Amino acid sequence: MHFASDNTGPVHPKVMEALVRANDGYAPAYASEALAADVTAQVRTLFEAPEAMVHLVVSGTAANSLLLASHTSPWDTVFCARTAHINTDELNAPEFFSGGAKLTTVPTEDGKMMPDDLRKAIEGEETRDLHGPSRGPVSLTQTTEAGTVYSLDELTALTSVARDYGLKVHMDGARFANALVKLGCSPADMTWRAGVDMVSLGGTKNGLMGVEAAVLFDPAKSREFELRRKRGAHLLSKHRYLAAQMNAYLTDGLWLKMASAANAACRRLADGLRSTPGANLMYHYQTNIAFARLPRAAHRRLMASGAEYHLWDATLDGGPEDEALAARFVTDWSARDEDTDRFMEVLRG
Ligand SMILES: *Cc1c(COP(=O)(O)O)cnc(C)c1O
Repeated sequence: MHFASDNTGPVHPKVMEALVRANDGYAPAYASEALAADVTAQVRTLFEAPEAMVHLVVSGTAANSLLLASHTSPWDTVFCARTAHINTDELNAPEFFSGGAKLTTVPTEDGKMMPDDLRKAIEGEETRDLHGPSRGPVSLTQTTEAGTVYSLDELTALTSVARDYGLKVHMDGARFANALVKLGCSPADMTWRAGVDMVSLGGTKNGLMGVEAAVLFDPAKSREFELRRKRGAHLLSKHRYLAAQMNAYLTDGLWLKMASAANAACRRLADGLRSTPGANLMYHYQTNIAFARLPRAAHRRLMASGAEYHLWDATLDGGPEDEALAARFVTDWSARDEDTDRFMEVLRG
């Protein structure tokens, strides 16, 4: 019953096979191997973006921070959701890599920024001449941290606000594939056609050992990204093992199959929660993350039976047994129906 996060699961066997194939003999180092060029070619084809530049790193924090730093001056501010990973879970790395830029946070509804709130946040900055921050890029998360998904219209509405002020748009796509299969659209529709300039394209949470791709649709800042990646200690010398993973991921739709499996597993869990008295789903659940409130006694039972998940802004001890406590449940590509069914049995006591 592994619902703690989608980075606790195994690597897909096809990815392991690709690593073994890449392990055959010698190859040039530092992203000059043939496999790296294959990744760029695959991304350009899949995203219908022949000019796109693609650079691999080993963490989402690095992809986000290096992309944002390449488009942000130290005196700028980046606009993001209050709940954004870059705001709450990256230990100020975006600020650090940008040389001191700050973040201006925007409230969310159902995990999403609303265009009017984004506009208000943008209007609120660059009003103090030399004394306050300048407006920098807007960063959106798709799938959001709440497991919800921006529709294409919602994305376009937000990027249009950014455009009104001449700001670039970054997408944190740690769970890009989960949103993509949910919307059933093309990668181009969910990115540059909707006004997105750059994407942190996640792999680790969706079956890779540890690779995220920074995709720049406008190649102008690509060189700067590479310089920052090296200086930031994120240019791997045995880069072929990153490229091999990302190649396998994008080949024959493996990334989409894994994301569909993760989403389906979460749907099974969410349907079960929805039909359980005393359990309440919290957001308009859409992908492979569900939040729900359950009575403390149910959490105790589940955890004692070995269910793994995180309570959200709550602790198990120190309150009435019938108090509803929020929790987050995340599924990955390898989740098994029988584990979800066992979870439901324990939950229903
Ligand atoms: C997991 C995650 C990341 C990347 O995290 P790392 O631990 O740095 O790989 C980025 N954004 C979101 C929304 C995430 O959930």
